[in-house]
Amino acid sequence: MKRSFALFAIIALAVMALLTSSCAGDRTLEKASATITAGELRDYTRILGADSMMGRKPFTPGEDITIKYLAGELAKLGFEPAFGDSWYQEVPMVEITTVVDGKVLITCGGNSMELAAPDDIAVESPSMRQYVELEEIPMVFCGFGIVAPEYGWDDFAGLDVKGKCAVVLVNDPGLYTGDSTLFKGKEMTYYGRWTYKYEEAARQGAAAILIIHETTGAGYDYSIPRKSSLSPGLYMETAKDGLEPCPVTGWLNAEAASRLFNMLGHDVESLQKNACQPGYKGFETEASISLKLNNSHTRNNSFNVAGIHRGTTRPEECVILSAHWDHFGIGEKENGDSIYNGAVDNGTSMAWAFEIGEAFASMKKRPERSVIIFFPTAEEQGLLGSTWFATHPPVEVQNIIAAFNNDLLLPIGRMKDIMVTGYGQSELDDLLADAARHQDRYIMPDPHPETGMYFRSDHFPFARVGIPSLFARGNFDSREHGKEWAAEQERDYLANRYHKPADNFYPEMNFDGVAEDAQAILEVAYKIVTSDIRPGWKPGSEFANIRY
Ligand SMILES: [Zn+2]
Repeated sequence: MKRSFALFAIIALAVMALLTSSCAGDRTLEKASATITAGELRDYTRILGADSMMGRKPFTPGEDITIKYLAGELAKLGFEPAFGDSWYQEVPMVEITTVVDGKVLITCGGNSMELAAPDDIAVESPSMRQYVELEEIPMVFCGFGIVAPEYGWDDFAGLDVKGKCAVVLVNDPGLYTGDSTLFKGKEMTYYGRWTYKYEEAARQGAAAILIIHETTGAGYDYSIPRKSSLSPGLYMETAKDGLEPCPVTGWLNAEAASRLFNMLGHDVESLQKNACQPGYKGFETEASISLKLNNSHTRNNSFNVAGIHRGTTRPEECVILSAHWDHFGIGEKENGDSIYNGAVDNGTSMAWAFEIGEAFASMKKRPERSVIIFFPTAEEQGLLGSTWFATHPPVEVQNIIAAFNNDLLLPIGRMKDIMVTGYGQSELDDLLADAARHQDRYIMPDPHPETGMYFRSDHFPFARVGIPSLFARGNFDSREHGKEWAAEQERDYLANRYHKPADNFYPEMNFDGVAEDAQAILEVAYKIVTSDIRPGWKPGSEFANIRY
């Protein structure tokens, strides 16, 4: 009798030890998690999506109102300013309006052809020069324009593009061959994004970079680059020792590219097929391009906002929670409404960040590492605020252990899934899978990785400097109404409210799922700031070589 009681006691102790060592048994985390409520998420979203914020557009009075509100709320939570004694980080930007002066002319021996802007060629100029002229510079076909050591791939090997015009294919070879072992198969790698191709061409010293447009590979039709070439571009000023961008960047319409290569005795289809072969060599064509651009520049500053909750023993190390504050301001009227409130883009995500921040601030025992809540500006203009922050961080970049971002968090109730955009990139996925299990949820990859969404929100500039970063939320599988219903909610939002004045706060919004998303990320972030773990990139990630 006595012996069996002792045995029972030992088993009971062992079970208790097991329970308390798992996160589900951590009282500090449990209590903090309970401070995340649907009601508070609703309040933040209502305020951030109110007309009084004037659509939160950079460089307008709406910016002042928004950033002061954000800093005030961070202070209320007990956070301290993250930039020395300031809540604000100035982000120097320049707006460049580019006008094509005259004709774009291509010559090849005795032949020549004209390209019409913007129908055949959509060019922009991220250059601080007022006048950019290319005079009969050689055009070099450089495959996909990719240098990827981890795949043993170098489209510029043996080619000299200095001062010349690089012409490249869109996306990466994996998309076109159906070979899942080539790059990441159908899933777009960063090498497939136009932003990467522009950067690589700049590193190679090209004077111009033109991407041959193709709708599947780009993820959108030619009207998108065409339209953006007609409106002014917003850029960050280049840092002193930073890489100067190519003075001419842009796209060739597929039909115009066909005409051009036919004139040269090639066809784009076979070029694409050949360029997918490992070891493919590009070539300098016999064609040269001439064009003149007039640029006008307007400088302006906008502001990032961030607060820090300092850790106890390792305050210099931190995790970051981010959600962009900017939206489109006051613009074209639709159905009598001209204020682009951006309640879902990105009010709900800011609410998510605040609630996670509040949970950390509520802990009686502060974590060892710090937590930074970061609201970037100018996401909608090309991730400018977060790019500036990641390259000018308030702490040493290697001390940023992980970054968590959210964008377009739909308040449609509790979900069974946590969809990870960029699934498989880093070990953060594994920590999230644990947290999901504790909520009786499962994690899943973004079902459309070919659109390259991982490269299109504010977690990405962190990834680019080597910081594992996660963009994850319930999106796919409603607990109450199922998958079809969830997909319909997303379709409805994208068709009727996304980037429209109708992206308002609505009383029927259900924040229960946003609360669970915040609690899941809280658990992952808590694990990191209360330990010395450093989640790494997974093998095969294009970011694996940057940091670890
Ligand atoms: Zn957004």
